[in-house]
Formats: sequence, C-alpha cells, structure tokens
Amino acid sequence: MKNLSRPVIWFVCGSQHLYGPGPLAQVADNAQTIAGALAASARLPLKTVMKPIVTTPDEITRMCMAANADAECAGLILWMHTFSPAKMWIRGLSLLSKPFLHLHTQFNRDLPWASIDMDFMNLNQAAHGDREAGFLHSRMGLARKVVVGHWSDPEVEDRIGAWMRAAHAWADWQGARFCRFGDNMRQVAVTEGDKVSAEMKFGFAVNGYGVSELVAQVEAVKPAAAEALAADYESLYAVAPELKKGGKRHAALVYAARQELGLRAFLEAGGFKGFTDTFEDLAGLEQLPGLAVQRLMADGYGFGAEGDWKTAALLRAMKVMGEGLAGGTSFMEDYTYHLPPAGGQVLGAHMLEICPSIAAAKPRVEIHPLGIGGKSDPVRMVFDGKKGAALNASLIDMGTRFRLVVNEIRVVDHADLPKLPVARAVWECEPDFKTACAAWILAGGAHHSGFSYSVTTEMLEDFAGMAGIEMARIGRGTTVSAFRQDLRNNEVYYHLAHGFRA
Ligand code: MN
Repeated sequence: MKNLSRPVIWFVCGSQHLYGPGPLAQVADNAQTIAGALAASARLPLKTVMKPIVTTPDEITRMCMAANADAECAGLILWMHTFSPAKMWIRGLSLLSKPFLHLHTQFNRDLPWASIDMDFMNLNQAAHGDREAGFLHSRMGLARKVVVGHWSDPEVEDRIGAWMRAAHAWADWQGARFCRFGDNMRQVAVTEGDKVSAEMKFGFAVNGYGVSELVAQVEAVKPAAAEALAADYESLYAVAPELKKGGKRHAALVYAARQELGLRAFLEAGGFKGFTDTFEDLAGLEQLPGLAVQRLMADGYGFGAEGDWKTAALLRAMKVMGEGLAGGTSFMEDYTYHLPPAGGQVLGAHMLEICPSIAAAKPRVEIHPLGIGGKSDPVRMVFDGKKGAALNASLIDMGTRFRLVVNEIRVVDHADLPKLPVARAVWECEPDFKTACAAWILAGGAHHSGFSYSVTTEMLEDFAGMAGIEMARIGRGTTVSAFRQDLRNNEVYYHLAHGFRA
C-alpha cells in the first residue's frame, strides 16, 4: 500500500514497589511472556514491543511522554499485573496523546487450587489491580478499549487485533495529506464540511489544487510509458477489443493510462494518501478519470468523487484497517433500489469509480458514454462485487462535530445487467431494508460511503473512540425508535464533551 508506515504497539505493565524486588522481577518476566506472545501472534497486524515495567509516577510520566514523541508508536496496551495505585498514573495519562487499550488479563490461566497461597494472590491480582486502573481512566474521562480474558485466548487476540487496525489507521491519518482537484460538486451539501475542524479533530490536512496542475502532469507523460501501461491493462484485465492495440478506440485506453501515470506522479510528488475530483471541473482533461481512479484505490489511495474529501479520508483509513485481510474496500454510492414486496435491495455503484479490490472476477475494461460532464467517453473497469458480509460507513460533518454512520450489509447475487457498464454490487441491509434506510437517513448518512468486506464494525467503533466522535451503528437488533433516541442522547453528550473549542 502506498505511503503506509508500519508502527508498533507498546506493551506497558504497571506495578508498584510494595512487594519487593523478587516479585517485581517476576512481574517483568511474566509481562515479557505476554508481550512476546502478542508480538508473535499471526492474528495481530502490528508488532507488540515490551517496555520496562512502570512503578512510580515519574516512570509512568516519562513513559507516556516517550510514547507521544515516538512516531513509531501507534498506541499502548496497559495491564496491571499487580496493584498499581492509580494516582501514580494521573500525570502521565493526562499527557498521553496516543490511543490505549486496557488489557484485563491475568498471567495464570487456571487457579492452582491445591497450592494457592498469599504469594500467588499478591502476584496474580489484576482482578483488582485493573479495577483500580479502570476507575482512574473513567474518572479522567479517557477514551480506551477494554479487552477481557486470558492472553492466550484467540478471541482476546481478535479484540486486540481490531483495535490495532484502528490504531494503525489513526496513526496513518496523523499528518496525512489529501488532495482536492477542484472544489465540491455545485450545491451539494453532504460532501461539504469544515476542513479546519477536521484537521483539529483527525490530524489530516485537506488542500485544493487546480486541475490545470494535474493536466500538466498528464501531458508530461511520455507516450511510450502510456503505451506500456496500456499493454499492462491488456494482460491484467479483459479489455474490450475496440480498446486493444490495433482497435479503433485504442487511443482512449492510452489516454486513460496517461491519466493514471499523471495522477500517480502528482500524488507521489505531494506525498498524498488520497484525493478527490469532480466531473464539473475537468478543465483540460479529456475524460473523467475512471480506470485511473479505480487502480489508484486498489493501491490504497483514498478517493471521494464530487469533491467528497471526508469519504476520501475515511476510505484511506478503511484501506489501512483492512490491510492484509481478505475482502476488499471501495468508494461506494447507494445508487438505486430493487423494491419487491418481500424486502428491498440496494444497487450500489458510481459513475465509474469503484475499486477492483471488491471484484468477484477479473474486471472487464470498457468504454462507454458518461452522459454528464460533457467530456469524451471514459474508460472504466466493469465488474460485480463478490457475495458476502460487508458494511458501508459514512463520515459526515454535523456543523459542530463529526458523526460516523455504519450499516452492516450482505452482498447478494443479482440478475445480469447487460446495459449497465459500471462496477457495482447489490446488497441487502441489516437488520432489514426499511429499518436500515430510515436509520441511515435519520442519522444524516451520505449517499457516498466507504464500502468494505474486510473492515468490521468493531474496528470502526474503536476508530471512532480514538477520534472522539460518535458512531451510529445500524445492524442486527437496530430499531428505528431506539436508534433515534440514541441520536438524541448523543446530540447532548457530544455537544457537552466537545466543549467550547468549536
Ligand atoms: Mn457521487
């Protein structure tokens, strides 16, 4: 994936000096065993690094400040093997700016019933040591994830793994740059937003660039390079005969390759992690970029159409969260419905820009008219999304705060679509079509979304927690009346939690 660093997670064990040096050495040794097991686990996407145990306010404060200063540290796992009086943690945790996970585990899995004595009790006392820590975290109002269970339990690793993926995406956003070619689609509301608030809240910067700068990069592409990439397309995809070398519209395929190479050069030179464009501002581009955007998404770039920078940033975060997992992640739009009496389905697509990571089979590359934008016919990949569980996520700006809306869905089979030459997926919503759409609309979710088979609701919930924003989940068990009441409650909570910094 482009521009992706590989941070680590610090494993920090808290204790105190009450028990003498012998037990402290044992605490350190046990913590090393757990950290080593996490570091070696194939279920965990980031490497865990053991830090020296902390036993005093100064040690804790130095550790937290070092975590803040270390760009390689994406987050911390905290565990109190013994009792670690939590007032010692106030100064350090008040400074800590990295996400943390509170692992409520115990070194020993089974109680040694016949031999248990007070030495064992003093060593294995996370049952109350972690409660002391949890009180302080709650007292200080600190966002964190709490994971409970023995550290050898695969389910515990999966909870940690989801959090690590969120922490990776969060670290990736810090200092990230997103590029907007042109501005917003005219008059559209949901793709607008406050880029200053976003940078304060999320850590990424969004800035605009003239399409003329992109045109210059596209025109600078050497013809031989564009021909070579067009030949790659012919080997990778099922390219329509008219677009192949020798075909009557081959020049359009070569132009699509020029667009890709120009866009890549621009994005790489600027160190961008994602971008937007809009069909209303294409200046000297001959076509709306279709194939180029699809291939850049497949390489991990975030993308939002019609100037939708929030979806571009969210898609990048989801690409990072899902990295290495089966499935795929794409920009998506709820396009049209199938509404038989038995239950509704959504046909999701876009004019062109759907990522081939979600394709069920080898994409076809075709050329067809677009109908809007007034440019020449764009080349695009055409495919169906694979079947299976997925989700849609939408990041919206409510004016004084951001909200993440998530709907769990199932991509299903559908009839052939011989006259619809765009990439698409057909899905059913959880808990059902009517509830899901009503809840999504009541929450203000956009028509654009990040769509993924790889990212889970849990990852997004952890991610929203790190960002300090609301996540409104629509899935099994959701009812419109309870969902609406949650939105009302959250209006109050997030308004108060945000304070006067708006
Ligand atoms: Mn759109």
